[in-house]
Amino acid sequence: MSERWFKGLGKRPRFKSIRHYSGWTYPDSAGFKIESEGENGHLNLSKIGRIQMRGQAKYWGKPTTCTIVYRNGKWYVSITVNVLEQVLKPDILPVGAVGIDLGCKSALSITDGENHQLFDAPKFLKKAEHLIKKASIDKRRKRAPNRKKKIKASRRFKKAQLKVSKLIQKVGNQRQNWVHQVAAEIVSGNSFVATEKLEVKNMTRKAKKGKRKKQKAGLNKSILDVGFGMLRSTIKYKVEQIGGVFVEIPTRQVKPSQTCPKCGHQHKKTLDVRVHNCSVCGYIQDRDIAAAEVMLYWAKGILPGLGTSLEGADVASSTASTTKRKQAGSMRQLGQKKRQKSQSNFANYKLEDVETSSSGEAS
Ligand SMILES: [Zn+2]
Repeated sequence: MSERWFKGLGKRPRFKSIRHYSGWTYPDSAGFKIESEGENGHLNLSKIGRIQMRGQAKYWGKPTTCTIVYRNGKWYVSITVNVLEQVLKPDILPVGAVGIDLGCKSALSITDGENHQLFDAPKFLKKAEHLIKKASIDKRRKRAPNRKKKIKASRRFKKAQLKVSKLIQKVGNQRQNWVHQVAAEIVSGNSFVATEKLEVKNMTRKAKKGKRKKQKAGLNKSILDVGFGMLRSTIKYKVEQIGGVFVEIPTRQVKPSQTCPKCGHQHKKTLDVRVHNCSVCGYIQDRDIAAAEVMLYWAKGILPGLGTSLEGADVASSTASTTKRKQAGSMRQLGQKKRQKSQSNFANYKLEDVETSSSGEAS
C-alpha cells in the first residue's frame, strides 16, 4: 500500500487494525503447511502457528494456494489442491438421459421421456425474510458508524449487524446445500443432461408495464430465491465431472415452451398457460414437462419437425462418454469439443481456534 503512496498514486497509508482485514492469501506454498489427508487436520501458518481445522474435502491432492477469510465472526481457510483427473471419473457411467426445465412453478421439471419428476423450490429466503427484516430494524436502532463524523459503531450495532449477516448467510448455506443435493440426485442416474441455455439476467429483468408486471415480479423473486444460475452450473459441473454430456439448448432456436414434443408443432403460450395442449396431435402434458421433453428430444436429435443437429448448442462432453453412447449422427460433434479438465478443487475448512492464536481479537 505504501508503495503507491510513495509514488504519489494512492492515499496516505492508514493504520489498519486487525478488524479491518477480511482475510489474506498465500500465493505459493511457502507461507503455509497443511497437515491433512483431506479431512479435518491442522494448518501451519508462518508467524501465526498451528491451528486446528474442521471440514472435509471431496477430493484431495497437493495444496497449492491457501486463503484465509474472516466471515461473520468466523475464520475459514480455502485451499486449492491439485487433483489427479482419474480420481474424478467413476468406472461406469450412469446410463440415464434427461431433459430439465428450470421453471418457476416447480423449480425443476425433469423427464427422461417416460417418467417425469418435479422438484419444488424450497423457499429459504421467504421463510427467513421476516427474521432478517426484524434483525435489520433492530440494527437500525443502534449507533451506526460514520467516518466523516468520526463516530464508531457501537458494540450493540456490531452485534446486531453480525446477527443480520448470519441470518443471510444461513439462507445462502441452505440454498447451496439444496442445490448440491438436487444436482447429486440427477447425476447419480444420468450422464446425459439437456437443459435450456438460461440467462438469469434476462429472466429477472423487470416487466415494464401492464398486467404481466406483477406476474413477472413474482417469477423474478422465485427465480432469485432458488438460485437457478447456481443450480445450472452445479448440475453442469457434476455431469462433466463424471464424464457425462451436458447440452445447452439454444432457447430462441428451439423454443422449448412453445413446441410440441410429440409432433414438433409450434404454438405460442403465454406465461399463465400451465398445460401444453397440442392442437395438431392432441398431446396433453404439463407445460414444464413438455418443455423438458422438447429439450431432451432435441438434444438426442429425435425431436419431430426440427433439424437434428447439435449445431448451435453448447455441448460439454468427454471422449469417454462419446465412445460409450452411440447415439448416431447427432452425437458426432461431441467428440470435437475439447474436454475441460477440472484439475483444481477447492477445499473449504473452518478454522477452529485461530482467534486465539492470531493476535487479532475478532470483535
Ligand atoms: Zn403435437
